[in-house]
Amino acid sequence: MRIILFGPPGAGKGTQAVRLRERFQIAHLSTGDLLRAEVAAGTSLGKEAGALMAQGSLVPDEMVVGIIEHRIEKDDCKGGFLLDGFPRTIPQAKALDSMLDKHALSLDHVVSIEVPDEALLERITGRRSCPNCGAVFHIQFMPPKVEDTCDACAHQGLHQRDDDKAETVRARLEKFHRETAPLKDFYSHYEPESLVRSVDGTGKPDAVYARILDAIGADVADETPPAMKAAN
Ligand code: AMP
Repeated sequence: MRIILFGPPGAGKGTQAVRLRERFQIAHLSTGDLLRAEVAAGTSLGKEAGALMAQGSLVPDEMVVGIIEHRIEKDDCKGGFLLDGFPRTIPQAKALDSMLDKHALSLDHVVSIEVPDEALLERITGRRSCPNCGAVFHIQFMPPKVEDTCDACAHQGLHQRDDDKAETVRARLEKFHRETAPLKDFYSHYEPESLVRSVDGTGKPDAVYARILDAIGADVADETPPAMKAAN
């Protein structure tokens, strides 16, 4: 199974990607996470990317295409993968097509998670993540059990990404509408058939997850939500 999770920043791609990765046992490739790892490691690529990311700008296409090209050749992608945050421009989508052709692979679905801008702003500015294990919370909608403490690893001190601050979020949403939204059209007119599965991304993560499974024709019936498994 090879899926693109498509949607504006804050649509819940990261949250849904973790569930889909577990359900289908596929690799989760997030260009945002891969770039943040480069920034944290202080590589030259990370230095160049970090400055652009902090302003809410996209990094150059060649940079992310190179990262993904390198990544999809790894063994953990052999059973399939889920792209989260890539492609984000038409040139990236075309580069992905060439990469897939080269490896005689194809895409199964482009899941478009749709959420109105006002709801996105509220979601993103309240988002916090654990700097230790990467778990994601929301101060209003998904608060940790103990304030400012990670439920998964008990690390204290949750972090707000610089690019999750309101001003930067507006810039990111504007970029999404201008540069990334046209991809939906690109994948709607894909040959031999449209790959786009539009999903309402409002409401609780469990509800959105069920809609995604339904949209890609997976069996929703005997699914135990990951949150319930963790509680058992
Ligand atoms: P994300 O975590 O997906 O919201 O990505 C965070 C930031 O990383 C974005 O605002 C961009 O600056 C950069 N980024 C991530 N993926 C891409 C991509 N496919 N193309 C260009 N820039 C990207």
